[in-house]
Amino acid sequence: MSISFIDAKIINQGRALQLELDIIGQRKIGVGELAEYRGQPRKIREVEIAGDGLLLLAELDNLQQVSVPVSSFLPPVEPELLIDNIGQLILPDEKGHLEIVENAAVAVGQGKILEKGSRTKVMPRLQSNSSLKIIDAGARVVSPGLVDCHTHPVFARNRADEFAQRLAGATYDEILENGGGILNSARLTRETSLLDLEKSTYRRIARSLSYGVTSLEAKSGYALNLKGEIKSLQVLENLSQTLPVDISPSLLAAHALPREFQSNRKGYIDLIVDKILPEVKLKGLARSCDAFCEKSAFSLKETAQVMRKAKALGLDLRIHAGQFNSLGAVKLGAELGALSVDHLEEVSSEELSALEKSQTVAVFLPGAALTLGMQPPSPRRYLDRGIPVALATDMNPGTSMTENLPLMASFGCMQMKMTVDEVWRALTVNAAKAAGWTRRATLRQGEIADLVIWDFDDYRSLPYHYGINLVNTVIKRGKLVISSATDI
Ligand SMILES: [Zn+2]
Repeated sequence: MSISFIDAKIINQGRALQLELDIIGQRKIGVGELAEYRGQPRKIREVEIAGDGLLLLAELDNLQQVSVPVSSFLPPVEPELLIDNIGQLILPDEKGHLEIVENAAVAVGQGKILEKGSRTKVMPRLQSNSSLKIIDAGARVVSPGLVDCHTHPVFARNRADEFAQRLAGATYDEILENGGGILNSARLTRETSLLDLEKSTYRRIARSLSYGVTSLEAKSGYALNLKGEIKSLQVLENLSQTLPVDISPSLLAAHALPREFQSNRKGYIDLIVDKILPEVKLKGLARSCDAFCEKSAFSLKETAQVMRKAKALGLDLRIHAGQFNSLGAVKLGAELGALSVDHLEEVSSEELSALEKSQTVAVFLPGAALTLGMQPPSPRRYLDRGIPVALATDMNPGTSMTENLPLMASFGCMQMKMTVDEVWRALTVNAAKAAGWTRRATLRQGEIADLVIWDFDDYRSLPYHYGINLVNTVIKRGKLVISSATDI
C-alpha cells in the first residue's frame, strides 16, 4: 500500500495512542491500540514514517521498535462511490513499477481517490453512508483512466481520398496537386467555422473517451496562421468545458510552412515568435508549445527559436523529433527541459545520452510508422536506460487516423517488444507526465478519480486481445461517463 504521509506526531496516549497525521496536506487524527502491549498501556517514545507504515519506538519490556501498518491509524473514509469486486486493480507508480492488486476496491469522494487496494484493507475503513453508490466491477480489471499524450484532433476534413491515392501509387507531390496534404488541410481549416470545427473535434475526442482515454494532449497546427491557430485552440478550450476529458492544449503553429510563406521561411518563424506565441499566451489558450523539427518542416535552428520564445513566455515544451532524420531536436528538447520528445524513429546515441540526463519523456507513435509503412520505432534502448517511455495515437488525418489508444499498446508489445507492464505504464503514468500532469494516472490518495473498468479479468489482455474496444465503464472525476452492461 502507499499513503502519502508528510508528518506524524503523538498527541495523546493512554489506553490508546492518538496520532496527528498529515496525509497529503490534510491533518487527521488517527487512533490506534498500539499503546497496549500485553494488556498494559505502554508509552510510545517516538513515531516516524517508514515507507508505507509508521515505526513506533515503544517502551515495552525493553525499548523496542514496532512497525505498524498505516491503516491502523487512519480515520474512516466516507466515500460517495465505491468500486467493489475488482478482480485486478492496476496501480502504476512514477518509479517504474506496476502493482497488480487482486480482489480490490476503490473508494471515491468529491471526485478524488480516497482509498484503494485490497478489499481487506479498504472495506474496514468505510463509514456507512446512505447515499453511497456502489459499482460492482464483476471481478474485472480496473485501471487509471488512460492518457493519450500526442493527438492532432482539430482539423477540417479527413484525408481518406489521399490514403487511397497513395495506395494507388501517387507520390506526395501528386497528392498535393490533387488537393491533399497538410497545406490543403490548412486551407480548409482556416475556412471552417469555429462551430463546425468544434463539432468534428468533439466526435474525435468523444471517440477517444470511448476507448478509456480520460485525459489527452491535443495540438493545433492545421491552420498555420494567427487567426486559425487561435480558433483551433479555442475549439479545444470550449470542448474541455463540455466533454468529460481533460485536455492539455499545445500550440503547433510550427507544423508546416504555410503556402504564403513558401519563399519566406524567416517571415513565418517571426510570425510565430512575435505574434502567435504572445497572443496564445495572453489568451491562456495553450499549456505547451510544439514544433515539427524535420527536413521537410523546420530546421533545428528554427525549432530552437520557437522553443526558446515559448519557454521565455512560461509555456511547456514538446518537439516532434527524429521521425525521419536525426537533426538534434531530441538533444535540444532534453536540454531545454521539454516535457516530451515524440516520434524518435531516428535518434543518434549522443541524443539518447542527452535524453537520459533529462526528465523528458520519450513518446513513441507506432500508428504513424504503420501508416507510412516504416519500421516500427524501437523503445528498448530507452527503457533499458530508465528513460520514461509513453505511447500515443498521434491521431491526425495524414499519418495516423485512429483514436484507439489501447491498439498502440498491442503495437508496443507485438511490434516494439515492450512488456505488458511497460505498455500499461506507457498509457498511464508516463503519458500523464508527457502531457504535463503530475499526480495523475497512478490512483494515489487525493488524485482525481479517473478510472476504467475493462471487459477482461487478466490485465495482460489489453495488448493481447487487440483491435477492439474492451472498455466496460469509464469514470471521470468520480462520475460515471460511460457505462456498459456487457458481461465478461
Ligand atoms: Zn504528431
